[in-house]
Amino acid sequence: MSAPYPWLEPYRQMLTEVIARERLPHGLLVTGQPGMGKMAFAGMLAQLLLCEARDGRTRPCGHCTGCIQFLAGSHPDYFVVTPEEESQVIKVDQVRELGEKLALSSHRAGFKAAVVHPAEAMNINAANSLLKTLEEPSDNTVLVLVSSQPARLPATIRSRCQQLRITAPAPAIAQAWLAGKLDGQDPERFLQLANGAPLEALRLAEAQVIDKRRTQFLALVRVLEDKGDPLKLAADWCKDESLQAVHWLRDWLMDLVRVRTTGQTGVVRSADLAEGLAGLAARLDSRKLFLQLDNINRLLRNNDGSLNRQLMAEDILLAWAAQQ
Ligand SMILES: [Zn+2]
Repeated sequence: MSAPYPWLEPYRQMLTEVIARERLPHGLLVTGQPGMGKMAFAGMLAQLLLCEARDGRTRPCGHCTGCIQFLAGSHPDYFVVTPEEESQVIKVDQVRELGEKLALSSHRAGFKAAVVHPAEAMNINAANSLLKTLEEPSDNTVLVLVSSQPARLPATIRSRCQQLRITAPAPAIAQAWLAGKLDGQDPERFLQLANGAPLEALRLAEAQVIDKRRTQFLALVRVLEDKGDPLKLAADWCKDESLQAVHWLRDWLMDLVRVRTTGQTGVVRSADLAEGLAGLAARLDSRKLFLQLDNINRLLRNNDGSLNRQLMAEDILLAWAAQQ
């Protein structure tokens, strides 16, 4: 098993060496800015420890009972403590309960691993309770604290943990990974916005896509309501070489057909626009929706670059405007 993200691979190698030399600390404080994959790192460490295969100390096998239970989220010796629903803090009872579980011998005669995340969410009583667990660790137990704001943790906690900071990967690694997740957007720009943290960059890119989709959707609704000019919108669409808006419209037409054929609004794939789609589905004609879908599919299939983008966009939007 390789690391969950490519930039964590050096950390995986370091971990396996530390485990092989039996130098793993009882308390590990994993720090780094948001979006670096700190939780993925903690999970990787836990699985390395909980794998029961012979070579499990270097790489989890992925199919022993330990791995299977871990991957299913049901390993009896793996504990994750986070703020409970609607709460911002980790409470003392949660940490006490963790301490009691860690004090017992392991269910599967191997390691016990616990992750506290985000560690700075512990209130003072919870932190004091955790301190006891850190001071009197039971055998074969690893406690991982995950924090992007370690300065907010009591010094007593920090001093009892070995710190490991996950730093931003080389731009080439982050860009290559992010480019594979984005639909033609520029990975460099989002990485800059995210200070080089790849998962944060992805989050920002996705949020921006949702905004753009909503803007496009509202423009289509305006065209239907005779408030927007389909030819002007077509010109807008053509500024984007990949004609992303056409692909979105195709997705929405399929959603509209789904709603009309099932009579249910829960079936839409574009969940971010479910309400607007349900409203449209109620007033559009199924046959015309199918005709538009056919037309778009045909145009996209034949779009080898020779089709005039402007004509294609106008064709699609005039049909959209005419269906009302
Ligand atoms: Zn395994």
